[in-house]
Amino acid sequence: MNNDTHDLSYILNHLGEDRENYYQAVSAPIILSSNFCFRSVNEMRTKLENELETPFYTRGYNPTVAILRKKIAALEKTEDALVFASGSAAIAAAVMSVVKGGDHVVCVQKPYSWTNTLISSYLAKYGVTSTFADGTNEQNIFDAVRDNTVLVYLESPNSLTFELQNITAITNYCRQRGITTIIDNSYCSPLNQSPSELRVDIVVHSATKYINGHSDVVAGVVASTKERISKMMAEEYMTIGSIIGAHDAWLLIRGLRTLELRVNRSSSSAQQIAEWLEQHPKVEQVLYPTLKSNPQYDLAMKQMKQGGGLLSVKLKAKSVSEMEKFCDSLKCFLIATSWGGHESLVLPICALKASTSLSSQLPWNMVRLYIGLEDPEMLVSDLKQALQKL
Ligand SMILES: *Cc1c(COP(=O)(O)O)cnc(C)c1O
Repeated sequence: MNNDTHDLSYILNHLGEDRENYYQAVSAPIILSSNFCFRSVNEMRTKLENELETPFYTRGYNPTVAILRKKIAALEKTEDALVFASGSAAIAAAVMSVVKGGDHVVCVQKPYSWTNTLISSYLAKYGVTSTFADGTNEQNIFDAVRDNTVLVYLESPNSLTFELQNITAITNYCRQRGITTIIDNSYCSPLNQSPSELRVDIVVHSATKYINGHSDVVAGVVASTKERISKMMAEEYMTIGSIIGAHDAWLLIRGLRTLELRVNRSSSSAQQIAEWLEQHPKVEQVLYPTLKSNPQYDLAMKQMKQGGGLLSVKLKAKSVSEMEKFCDSLKCFLIATSWGGHESLVLPICALKASTSLSSQLPWNMVRLYIGLEDPEMLVSDLKQALQKL
């Protein structure tokens, strides 16, 4: 067996699974205990010294969750990781671990909607100010930095219009100035982009998406250095307490078994479908990082291994009702939000609340497609018949 912790097959199938400790069971046990007991007072005293690294109380350490933490850290090529009850909980903990009252944050434009709320309005309650900058040109990020900027928050690419940031240019700039960088790497999954190798300090994911991959768990992860994770654990993780339960952690471990198969299938089908859509006469524009027509194609090819399973399409529709007709005619794409599961989805922009800042920045004739694990030929024929209805 290859024991290299960076070998993908080893990470997904074996890393962190100490089978000697549980009857050589192939599948990891779900340890539902909220607390753990000791043989003596002295043992308790010793364990309490390292409450966050050994079984003591499940909010701090749970053995099933611990297996998952080791796998996530290895996948993101970082020293340690934490798992949270949702992607948003992970993002909030990561951001709050960096900022304090009086600080300033620079965030890329059009991040995930609740990240936008966190940085633009929630943090303002605590005296943290922010600037949102168009990250397609890194100079805009640099120009937004002030004397009190402590954090640059990235999402490359974002999950609706797929603008990228030149990650290395930004992290080099930030490291020189002692500014921390966080990236939401959900779109790429740990497989299609490795931000720690591009010197990003903290990597976050909505594990609800590719990491779990079966549309049956909401979860989030943070991966970083031992130092940052220990501090986050002793502060945000323990005090806010938005931990994942052992059942859900087990489902994530199971989901990870097929991460490589799922991400590669979803990615290659999405590339094929994006190229097919681009030449269709009823299509105005396809937004996808690794299409040659993308002005950031070269950067995408440099930073990412391949495009992910999400793409957006603007249709040559005359009205919102034509967009509705297109979506309602699709038979294989479920009309839904979220993504990263086995099933293909369509998210119509015209269904979003017109008042939200997000939808006001996006055209009504756009839909976001998530390409799942189905036969791509079947998905193409479905799109073909729905486009004929326009
Ligand atoms: C879904 C999503 C989130 C939020 O994650 P939850 O697990 O829903 O809390 C954050 N970022 C991106 C890019 C997402 O797609």
